Amino acid sequence: MWVILAVVIVNAVIGFTQELRAEQAIRSLAALAAPRARVIRGGREVEVDGAHLVPGDIVLLASGARVPADLRLIEVNRLEIDESALTGESLGASKDVRPLAAERLALGDLKNMAFMGTLVLSGRGKGLVTGTGRATELGKISEQVRRVKPAPTPLQVQLGRFSRWLGYGILAVSGSAVLLGLALGRSVPEMLLTGIALAVGVIPEGLPVVVTITLAIGVKRMAGRNAIVRRLPAVETLGSTSVIASDKTGTLTKNEMTVQVIFVGGVTYQVSGIGFEPKGWITGPNGEPVRLKDHPALRLCLRAGLLANESRLGFEKERGWYPQGDPTEVSLIVAARKAGMDPDQETRAFAVVDQIPFESDLMYMASLCRHPRGEGKFIFVKGAPDRVLEMCTHVVTGPTGEEAPLEDRGAILEQYRALAGDGLRVLAFAYRKESAAVETLWPASVEEGLTLIGLQGMLDPPREEAFQAISQAKQAGVRVIMVTGDHQVTAVAVARRLGMVRGENVPVLTGLELEDMPDEELYHKVRYVNVFARVAPLQKLRIVQQLIKRGEVVAVTGDGVNDSPALKAAHIGVAMGKTGTDAAKETSDMIVTDDNFASIFAAVREGRVVFENIRKVTLFLLSTGLAQIILIPTALVLLMPLPLLPAQILWLNLVSNGLQDVALAFEPGEKGIINQPPRRRTEPVISRLMAERLVIIGAVIAVGTLYTFLWALNQGYSLDHARTVALTTIVLFQLFNVFNVRSEVESVFRMRLLSNPFLFFSVIASVIAQIMIIYVPAFQFVFRTAPLNAQDWVVLALVATTVIAAVEAEKALRRFVRVKRAEALARRR
Ligand code: ADP
Ligand code: MG
Repeated sequence: MWVILAVVIVNAVIGFTQELRAEQAIRSLAALAAPRARVIRGGREVEVDGAHLVPGDIVLLASGARVPADLRLIEVNRLEIDESALTGESLGASKDVRPLAAERLALGDLKNMAFMGTLVLSGRGKGLVTGTGRATELGKISEQVRRVKPAPTPLQVQLGRFSRWLGYGILAVSGSAVLLGLALGRSVPEMLLTGIALAVGVIPEGLPVVVTITLAIGVKRMAGRNAIVRRLPAVETLGSTSVIASDKTGTLTKNEMTVQVIFVGGVTYQVSGIGFEPKGWITGPNGEPVRLKDHPALRLCLRAGLLANESRLGFEKERGWYPQGDPTEVSLIVAARKAGMDPDQETRAFAVVDQIPFESDLMYMASLCRHPRGEGKFIFVKGAPDRVLEMCTHVVTGPTGEEAPLEDRGAILEQYRALAGDGLRVLAFAYRKESAAVETLWPASVEEGLTLIGLQGMLDPPREEAFQAISQAKQAGVRVIMVTGDHQVTAVAVARRLGMVRGENVPVLTGLELEDMPDEELYHKVRYVNVFARVAPLQKLRIVQQLIKRGEVVAVTGDGVNDSPALKAAHIGVAMGKTGTDAAKETSDMIVTDDNFASIFAAVREGRVVFENIRKVTLFLLSTGLAQIILIPTALVLLMPLPLLPAQILWLNLVSNGLQDVALAFEPGEKGIINQPPRRRTEPVISRLMAERLVIIGAVIAVGTLYTFLWALNQGYSLDHARTVALTTIVLFQLFNVFNVRSEVESVFRMRLLSNPFLFFSVIASVIAQIMIIYVPAFQFVFRTAPLNAQDWVVLALVATTVIAAVEAEKALRRFVRVKRAEALARRR
């Protein structure tokens, strides 16, 4: 009894510590995804941990941001905040900075405040922190933020239910074994103990814990590849992902924008240099560097780029030149500096009075600027060329800035196509003179009567890793779709460069076409269209929905507020760590810290490894259990003495499963794992192949153990000695079997022994423990073992290898059949 108790306690302690560690690992990763805040400190804009804010900090707000503290707003620009979490008001509250007269106001009326936890819907703002943490309005209502235990994943639920069901089954079998033994005249205490030991030994109580551990290891490995999983079920789902719908800018490309071509006043200028370092020249058609004095139209175009701009070009000694804000905008600053313009001087001379900030749905932004000599004002607009062109009535026609009514839009669009066809991202610039009286901008008034200045085309080099990842994804049967806000021609050019599409007529769907398309038609289109261009965030949702309807398992990327619905609808919502807003991150299942497509695919691959490993553990635990459940009743029926004593059964369970199941969770992915099509989501953990292999293994181990037991008795050994032979045989069997389950298809001999060192050393440790049990007198007494001689070892080791031989034969047969089938299929074609 004491032995049984001790073994049970040791087992429980191992299980508990494992579960604890798994949970801690998952928790520490959650901290990585904690919210951040943009603040101004030391005169510079920096990003800090939301928890590190203090009263007095100046916080910057932009659309999609979660307000990180209670703020008194000091600057707003069309700031609209969703305060439903606090006030229940579902419409966005528009904010201003004016002092409020009345003394006691409801929260919803405090228009010059922004409250922690609310969400910026659109616009920009700046506020002074007045309260943090518990001193905020949110803090008051949620004094206690309870830690919620993460809900179990579908797989865990499935396996949990399976384990319980299996447990009952095993109890029934053990019970029958007891009854059988009693019927055959065995003593009650002997059978009772055997029955209990059998049940305890065979029930795979380690399974749920190992599943958690495997998931945790997967989460950790993914984090090592820049993918932070926010919800555990995502780990499983990732493995069966069949479509990845990805943004272009920044995900498939590097987001290192460099303006290369400027088209203005009928002249095409080239810009030299690469990256954000403002080193290079602007050359005219004759190849000579231009002087801005002689090219006023070019200067106007660069000026528009500087003034219709919310970002800055940063410089630090250690980092060199870097973008502060949107790389698209920063590249415009770099271009202007290359031409010798001074951004600070420009913004001082043309003070910005009002601004319509850029939002994805708008596709443009506008600034209202004061004229340096007080001669009225200017509106500068920059945005997607097709969009800006609609707003223009005039155009700059010559390099010296002559203007004429815009008649030939086709010619401009032609230029635009030519630039986009080279994969350049193109922005258009326009302006309008205004009277001095105008103080504010309205979209309605901005969107007409503009004069088109020109176009700037910027290079955004594709990521090399993305190229590789896309070809691997293809092999893995995962379709990659590009969903971008950029123009279709640019999108196709980049898709082609990345190897996503081939051939002449690439099917493309634009946001405009999507608009009028009924869902039924879209359902058919999403089957073969791989490039979606000029897509507004909310249209992304429709694409995702139709893909899901087709039975795909969809991962989709997003960064803005309006991407949230699509992120939520997809099986795997992927938010961008760098450019993503809080809104996108909060609704996502996974955050990619480097915004890189390759990281998404790496996570998919890891997801597959996780599922495979869970399978391996399951097969291992079940097959060893099955062997015991065959062994004991068979011995009873054959009227033999029991080959294992109750304490020995428990020992067997501990020494051959205790570490190995966890070690299997550390298995690296198999080579073939990305050459298979994605697993169907409904596929059960125990596949047909597994069930068959389970029976083979169980039978071989049981028969082999019975054989050595009988052999030992025939040698005239004492019963204790014969049992020791049987015990050691089954222990070795199970240790060998670990190597069988390392791969579903591959031969043991093709796997590197040390690719999972944890497994290798756990097996060594188990062998040493087994030797101890046999030769140390104290243990001999406890477990009723006897020392084995050299001959015993040879016999039982040889017998134990049969489990490898049997599974190898079965694997080889399967490979053979598969090859034959493939050949037959090829012949029929
Ligand atoms: P993407 O970045 O994938 O192109 P967005 O929705 O962010 O998609 O942008 C949509 C379009 O708006 C872009 O293709 C570009 O033409 C234009 N655009 C992007 N950023 C800016 C900006 N900061 N100012 C003006 N226009 C922009
Ligand atoms: Mg963008």
